Amino acid sequence: MQGGPILPGSTIGILGSGQLGRMLALAARELGYRVAIYSPDSDTPAGQVADREVAAPYEDLARVREFARSVDVVTFEFENVPSATTAAAAECAPVRPDGRVLHITQHRLREKGFLQEHGFPVTPFRRIATLADLELAARELGLPAVLKTASFGYDGKGQVRIGSAGELSRAFETLGGAEGIYEAFVHFTQEISVVAARTASGDFAAFPVFENSHAHHILDVTFAPAAIPPALATQAVELARGILEALQVVGLLTVEMFVTTDGRVVVNELAPRTHNSGHLTQDACVTSQFEQQLRAVCGLPLGATTLRGAGAMANLLGHLWKNGTPDWVAALGDPRVKLHLYGKTEARIGRKMGHITACAPTPQEAVRLVTEARGRL
Ligand code: AMP
Repeated sequence: MQGGPILPGSTIGILGSGQLGRMLALAARELGYRVAIYSPDSDTPAGQVADREVAAPYEDLARVREFARSVDVVTFEFENVPSATTAAAAECAPVRPDGRVLHITQHRLREKGFLQEHGFPVTPFRRIATLADLELAARELGLPAVLKTASFGYDGKGQVRIGSAGELSRAFETLGGAEGIYEAFVHFTQEISVVAARTASGDFAAFPVFENSHAHHILDVTFAPAAIPPALATQAVELARGILEALQVVGLLTVEMFVTTDGRVVVNELAPRTHNSGHLTQDACVTSQFEQQLRAVCGLPLGATTLRGAGAMANLLGHLWKNGTPDWVAALGDPRVKLHLYGKTEARIGRKMGHITACAPTPQEAVRLVTEARGRL
């Protein structure tokens, strides 16, 4: 790597200040790094555990340059920062993954276009700017389908399922004038994800395949290893390897995929960072996804991704606070359960406030432990 590894004692600059940044900052501190956070907010989940928190807009390029000059490497916990921000940061410090990876992955059309051009399996899709585009896409690709905004969508925000031709114009209105992407509906049995890291010298390591279930479009429970045949798991990891290689990622990237009813793996979307589904690595794997991101961006050897047993994670969302502070003592009543909270003071419905993890001899047992613990809240 140019200039050699970025060693403990150096400062990690993180763009974004949510829970992913918090857990990355904690991993950095364990390894003896200093941490600086940049986001528009203050007293944030990440800022609370960092050495320094800068509250300034991503568009303030002078502040971004000043921030980048004060750190040894810039990485992300939030990918929807403007390209001009990553470019400004890159003038002053290494940015990992680089601005090109962010530019591609923050826009669904660019992302799916890139994947398709490089031969990775994606569902057929079309760009939607007008109602006529939508009607044509429905004729060419068929229904049902999913219509999504091309930018700034996550956790099912900005997307609508279309079941029949009669729903097209109403679906188009939900775009509110924004550019859209029409995706042929994928008939899937499971949703899985692969979190993988790559160093500047091309070393690669993936965590075991995670299996995810959602509630109201938000991740609910993840377990590992996924209940899929070993050949399919290998295929999913090799897909991830190919994608990180094609994007020349230095850092960590998550690939969300569907397992189709006819037994194929299809890529849904990419996140150039750690992922909610990877939280179980904190307690179930030799190396956590956060430590792995750090190792990858600092040019250190990657850590072992081996599971210590089966693992599971259940998200804790804001609605659990509706009757006041949840009963943490009850949740921790089972000694095998671990609680992680993000330091957020305001519990809005659907807001990710924390998660519970557990390890067990089987994934089913691990899922039972985390969902029962959550049930006791
Ligand atoms: P996304 O925001 O792309 O991660 O989508 C959120 C969720 O919507 C996914 O986890 C799937 O459950 C569902 N979904 C998204 N795209 C499709 C698709 N093309 N076909 C079927 N289900 C989809």
